[in-house]
Amino acid sequence: MADIDSEARERTGRRDQAVRAAVEQGLLGPDAAVAGLLDVTGIRESAAGLRAAFDAVTAPGTPVLHAFAVKATPLVPVVRLLHEAGLGAEVASPGELALARAAGVPPDRTVLDSPAKTPAELREALALGIAVNADNPQELDRLDALVRSVPARSPLGLRVNPQIGAGTIGATSTATPTSKFGVALRDEGARDWVVRAYAERPWLTRLHAHTGSQGIPLPLLAQGVAEVYALAQEINAAVGRRQVDTIDIGGGLPVDVASEATAPTYAAYAGMLADRVPGLFDGRYGLVTEFGRSLLARHGTVVARVEYAKSAGGRRIAVTHAGVQVAARTVYVPGTWPLRIAAYDAEGRPKTGPEVVQDVAGPACFSGDLLAEGRALPLLEPGDYVAALDTGAYGFAHHYAYNSLARPGIYGYAPDRAGGMAFAVVREPQTLAEVVAESGGAHASALTTLNASESR
Ligand SMILES: *Cc1c(COP(=O)(O)O)cnc(C)c1O
Repeated sequence: MADIDSEARERTGRRDQAVRAAVEQGLLGPDAAVAGLLDVTGIRESAAGLRAAFDAVTAPGTPVLHAFAVKATPLVPVVRLLHEAGLGAEVASPGELALARAAGVPPDRTVLDSPAKTPAELREALALGIAVNADNPQELDRLDALVRSVPARSPLGLRVNPQIGAGTIGATSTATPTSKFGVALRDEGARDWVVRAYAERPWLTRLHAHTGSQGIPLPLLAQGVAEVYALAQEINAAVGRRQVDTIDIGGGLPVDVASEATAPTYAAYAGMLADRVPGLFDGRYGLVTEFGRSLLARHGTVVARVEYAKSAGGRRIAVTHAGVQVAARTVYVPGTWPLRIAAYDAEGRPKTGPEVVQDVAGPACFSGDLLAEGRALPLLEPGDYVAALDTGAYGFAHHYAYNSLARPGIYGYAPDRAGGMAFAVVREPQTLAEVVAESGGAHASALTTLNASESR
């Protein structure tokens, strides 16, 4: 990490201090063997960086809504923190909408994008005044019916897929020719259909595309935005007025998981967009963004205690309490979702010493439950801690209940005035009683008594 930037250096310093303090304060220990930590300072910095980057390129007075993609880190206190930092919320399910509302995000700062919205969800969104992007012609038909019965307060748009290609990770790419999202713009007749759909619906005022996510390089992201802008121009020219008044460019800025460097930055992306799509920023269009990963990934760390350190077939293995339940993507598709691992000693201090190639295993009962395989790290011993970095988005907040492993506690940290580290509970650790309850505990005899009740 030769040319690490100062923001990254400070972030690393806060993280090391937080691990140490979490051990000292008992948030981590023999009876709390895994926890998620969130860097409140870092999250605020990212939100401010996002706003500043787009402020720098948009004409004064342009309406801009940065809607945080709640799926990246579905935690109410995180959504509230970002709301207070001036961001809105992009939601894609009834659950995410409920989280955004619980966090206090008002309807006019909320965008609903899910690909499978029911009529009831659409009706609720329109009643609340939440912005909705329709995914396909059938959904547009449903909106037609709703708009006829109640005049919509909601800004309404259509999601398109510019079909510009996959980048390096097919499973999370949304702009392949056959992606399930939006109207596939390069399919035969699709473009004309879109233009007609707007001409027939004067209330359709937004255009949306999200070209993501991790694995898409900046120029490809920018190309997706350029295509959406060109389509908005085409629609407005065809209808002879500025009907499309807002362009939603989605999120998708990748995070470099191979290093700590703060790159690519929002400033680099906004600068590239301003360069390639200048008309987007000249004040004629309002702007919506939907970043998730780039706002949160760096600022989350899952820390787990090493329970045992063993050896098999000549390979050293640290058996820890973090595995598939907190890092499902990495465990199932390790080549695509590698994680950087940091080693700490039993007091929570960065571990030093000669590096040894070892596996970092999780607690689940299948052999692929590894956070890292064949990784060179200071030799891990029982009582040490391992930290999986960049897990603040699509990471430990996305619990996977394999082996009925309990959801770990999540704590936010920020430096206090005395030079120490203060913590706040973001989510309590799940209790065993809660594990039983959500596993049908209230219905223990439901199956053994089924025949009896049937024959009654
Ligand atoms: C997932 C998603 C986002 C956020 O993507 P990131 O890569 O986390 O920035 C934004 N918009 C939509 C529609 C999404 O599905």
